[in-house]
Amino acid sequence: MRTPLIAGNWKMNTTVTDAQTLVSQMTGALGRIEGVEVLLCPPFVSLAAVKAILQGTNVQLGAQNMYWEDKGAFTGEVSPLMLSPLCRYVILGHSERRNIFGESDEVIACKVRAALRACLRPILCVGERLEENEAGKTRDVVSRQLRSALSGIGDIGSLVVAYEPVWAIGTGRAASGEQARATSGFIRMILSDLFGDAKASGVRIVYGGSVTAGNVAEYLKQPDIDGALVGGASIKALEFISIVDQAANLKGFRQA
Ligand code: PEP
Repeated sequence: MRTPLIAGNWKMNTTVTDAQTLVSQMTGALGRIEGVEVLLCPPFVSLAAVKAILQGTNVQLGAQNMYWEDKGAFTGEVSPLMLSPLCRYVILGHSERRNIFGESDEVIACKVRAALRACLRPILCVGERLEENEAGKTRDVVSRQLRSALSGIGDIGSLVVAYEPVWAIGTGRAASGEQARATSGFIRMILSDLFGDAKASGVRIVYGGSVTAGNVAEYLKQPDIDGALVGGASIKALEFISIVDQAANLKGFRQA
């Protein structure tokens, strides 16, 4: 049994004060959910403040990125050593990191290995661009990204993979449930090929890309999809609560 995961990627939104307000609006409702793991990924500067508000709840905290070295002359970077006391998860290989900041497959592989060394759970994002999708190259791209990011890794116990087609992120053009299911199934096949069926079947695969309260059920209904990575809708308290609520109803269970 894989515990469903609903993760909110706040991206570069919210000041520390905004983040405190937003998380305070959510904690009451999210704290009553069981059977679904809920994760919030605010900007680095708000991690400590959000962590303080989440104390005593089972809502988890994650970072949106990190560097792979533990310390040193890397101005502006944040290390696994700095994150591990604050967070359980870290998002790696997000398409905005790949496409805006030029992160290569090799860079992402270094980060995944560093996260696992630091006992942070990587949420590894993979997904094809529109032109790759239209050229029928989705599987080639996803396979290359996965095989590269996971090269040299023996134990993937805590890994989460997010299938996030680039053309669906922040565009309002979400993948269909069937598209997301097909690629998630393919991702699990690659994981089986790399690590064997037993380990692959324990990895959570979530869908991300214009997920809203209106469409999340379409993904959650798919047996191979274990939750969602939510961007824009995760900074709207009521909408995010509704997404988590639907996950609890469809895949988890609710406290009486
Ligand atoms: C994301 O940032 O990972 C994402 C999926 O964004 P959005 O939900 O806004 O498309």
